[in-house]
Amino acid sequence: MKLQVCAKTDIGLARKNNEDLFFVDEKQGLFIVADGMGGHAAGEVASHIAVETACKFLQAADQDNPLKQLSQATKKANQAVELAAKGNKAWQGMGTTLTILLLQQQHGYFAHVGDSRIYRLRDSQFEQLSDDHSLVGEQLRQGVLTPEQAKTSALGNILLQAIGMTPQLDICQKSIPLTAGDRFLLCSDGLTNMVSDTEIEKTLKQSGPLKPLCEALIKQAIVAGGKDNITAVVLQIDQLEAIESK
Ligand code: CA
Repeated sequence: MKLQVCAKTDIGLARKNNEDLFFVDEKQGLFIVADGMGGHAAGEVASHIAVETACKFLQAADQDNPLKQLSQATKKANQAVELAAKGNKAWQGMGTTLTILLLQQQHGYFAHVGDSRIYRLRDSQFEQLSDDHSLVGEQLRQGVLTPEQAKTSALGNILLQAIGMTPQLDICQKSIPLTAGDRFLLCSDGLTNMVSDTEIEKTLKQSGPLKPLCEALIKQAIVAGGKDNITAVVLQIDQLEAIESK
């Protein structure tokens, strides 16, 4: 598979730490975004533990049944963050979102917990693939709120589940067939709370290299106020491997 990727994270304008973390391994086709939370810099600890634990597991795992591997990696991350929080008073109550995309041959697989997001742009169609595990996201799915009401809801930041904080995770998982030309965006809510889907879509549709596009997304969030840490991982599938004839 031939692909391009550009990943950036920025502390934003209001926070003292950057608790977001991304991981990119083009060779393995592994892309992760985590957005940590917790006082005394514990959010940074949580996102690091989650990403490290998931990576370590996936790098050692065999290639069979990727969705199961992703689910296990997510559960291992959950246990590791919870255990660390129990062992250190300053880390109590820490947690993180975790969004993992794994590309294998003709398919993409993802596992996701929290309110970071994964979007896909295919041809002209822009789509959020992940569910938001937030109160507002749930109310939106149930039809209690309209998309317009959801945007201004005061409950916007309440997470329904997070790595390290939810013993029984309900992981959002999907397998998606890949097409050459597909673009994906993994991002934290520091982008999506500041920049509308319409703006993100417009930027993601710009032709040319990914770097200026990724930088533009970060800049838009900062210009809009940069109230949170901002992370964007943009990737494009240039060419899929030829299917071997049997
Ligand atoms: Ca955040």
